[in-house]
Amino acid sequence: MLKILTVTAMMLLSTTSLLAQEFDLFFDSKSLRIDLIHTANAQQEYYSVDRYYKEPYWGGSKINLIDTLGYGNYQYRIVDSASQRLIFSKGFSSLGAEWIVTPEAKTLWRSFEESIVLPFPHKSIGVEILKRKGKEWVTLTSFYVNPKSYLINTDQKVKIEARKIHYSGNTAQKIDIVILAEGYTASEMQKFMRDAQRFKDTLFSWQPFRNYTQNFNIWVVPTTSEESGTDIPGEGIFKNTFFDSHFYTFGTERYINTTHNRQIRDAAANAPYDQIYVLVNTDRYGGAGIYNFYSICTSDNPYSGFVFVHEFGHAFGGLGDEYFSDDEAVEEFYQLQTEPWEPNLTTLVDFESKWKRSMDASTPIPTPTTDEFLNKIGVFEGAGYSKKGIYRPFIDCSMKSIISNALCPVCQKALIDQILFYSK
Ligand SMILES: [Zn+2]
Repeated sequence: MLKILTVTAMMLLSTTSLLAQEFDLFFDSKSLRIDLIHTANAQQEYYSVDRYYKEPYWGGSKINLIDTLGYGNYQYRIVDSASQRLIFSKGFSSLGAEWIVTPEAKTLWRSFEESIVLPFPHKSIGVEILKRKGKEWVTLTSFYVNPKSYLINTDQKVKIEARKIHYSGNTAQKIDIVILAEGYTASEMQKFMRDAQRFKDTLFSWQPFRNYTQNFNIWVVPTTSEESGTDIPGEGIFKNTFFDSHFYTFGTERYINTTHNRQIRDAAANAPYDQIYVLVNTDRYGGAGIYNFYSICTSDNPYSGFVFVHEFGHAFGGLGDEYFSDDEAVEEFYQLQTEPWEPNLTTLVDFESKWKRSMDASTPIPTPTTDEFLNKIGVFEGAGYSKKGIYRPFIDCSMKSIISNALCPVCQKALIDQILFYSK
């Protein structure tokens, strides 16, 4: 029987932060990566342990080790075994979690590779993986890890020198983005470097990133593919690429992603990182971004710059999609009886916890989509794939539509909160 703290006790602890010098008490400046298999259908889900790795860098904060933002469908919490003290936590979402709400999950089990990464502990730790259920966190699995165990792999599967394309200093005090090449052959590596530079410039031309370039480091890992491009299964096109990315994820033509998390983590381990970005060498429109998981974007579509920032908004900021359609089928993504965790969406169940304080007192709730409120923070119905019952903070925003080339003030504020949290 594991003596891991109860959920309630951990929730109380999660409001406290470790002192700066305490990092060295519990951790080394390297990473412990735990690969997991997430197996689920629409009704049930399980996490099982696959492998452990000791990786050469820790790119995260050494001060803000406890997640106080509380985003993500899942969270992992690490306790020091001896004292049962919470020493690290982080929220995340995953591709498997998206699959659970697809129609396919009603009739099929599937397994997905996932990883949790934390600073490498000196002593035995307890690991707990939790899922959000309404306002509560429910434990899915818990186990101990002995950092001295011979089960922890220390070899590096993918060894490629990472290069800096933007460097502001100490990785513990910066947000480190690692950009991985997908579908670029050896002869296309110069193109990859140019593409990565272009996306860096795009990101830093958008607010709030423009004001915070000194809070970021950007690394590239030039992973080489045998063939150029990516899979387009719906057209019978399959390419031999480093991460085996593909369009038609979960049957959606423009949804490009990869299920090869282990390969992504092996490549990313060549740099200290907070965020992973997979850049796919194709001119088709597509992308994906999952909170504290990874982002993926195509290189040469006319809208690629927009997609790059939009997906990073999901993966780094925990932002939700503010768009919706008339398609009833996707309206089940959010439960209307609970407040979504995404900082830019509300069901009005707990609007106090969202952007209410940023609104003028005279702005009505909900807010009509009229010219009067065109550039004002309000509560506009239609967001999170649903035209009814979910509300967004601005009439238009880059989390809503491609024609808006700016993130709304609420999305910007959420991103600034993340930047400041991970820059400590
Ligand atoms: Zn927004």
